[in-house]
Amino acid sequence: MTDIDHTRALVVFSGGQDSTTCLFWAKRHFREVAALTFTYGQKHAVEVEAARAIAEKAGVAWEAMDVPLVGALGHNALTDTSLLMDEEKPAAAPPNTFVPGRNLFFLSIAAVHARERGIRHIVTGVSETDYSGYPDCRDAFIKSLNVTLNLAMDEQFVLHTPLMWLDKAQTWALADELGVLDLVRRETVTCYNGIAGDGCGHCPACRLRRAGLEKYLKTKLEGDENQ
Ligand code: ZN
Repeated sequence: MTDIDHTRALVVFSGGQDSTTCLFWAKRHFREVAALTFTYGQKHAVEVEAARAIAEKAGVAWEAMDVPLVGALGHNALTDTSLLMDEEKPAAAPPNTFVPGRNLFFLSIAAVHARERGIRHIVTGVSETDYSGYPDCRDAFIKSLNVTLNLAMDEQFVLHTPLMWLDKAQTWALADELGVLDLVRRETVTCYNGIAGDGCGHCPACRLRRAGLEKYLKTKLEGDENQ
């Protein structure tokens, strides 16, 4: 086994609200943080540029890795320009923005990448609370994969999921607590139409993000008034 440094973490980092909050969470909990951004034929290069810029501001080492296979294997609206995004979550199936196997591939690749660098802590921004029908954002999947990765490489990886049980409002609260609410609000790209900050306003990701922000800001305002 490789020599493992317990003070370093690798963040799977898309440049969106969730993984940016995780990046700053990791900076608080680990001495040294690195960020890894996967590209897989997303329609919006602006996401990758946002990730690079945020990593630079955060002062963490950043790498982008092109894994087009992940987007090409399954038919989905994030990489296929002929498909319109589902505006509403379908009742029985994951929405067409679901990229089958994405987190399985990403976290497996991240683990090998981390292992090469002697890093055992891997941070991902998945959340079961607002999981929008994506099965690979659920806690059971992450725990299962953590065991599998350790068996696969005879290592002691720890997959950290700081947002697993937080809703979007609580994720904003965490960003605020970490002192990066404005940065997350202005510089991250969560929007399925690739518009930074508050986004297009009407795609499912924008609506979820904005509802969470409004809920958090309202709670904060009420808290301030009561002091
Ligand atoms: Zn949007």
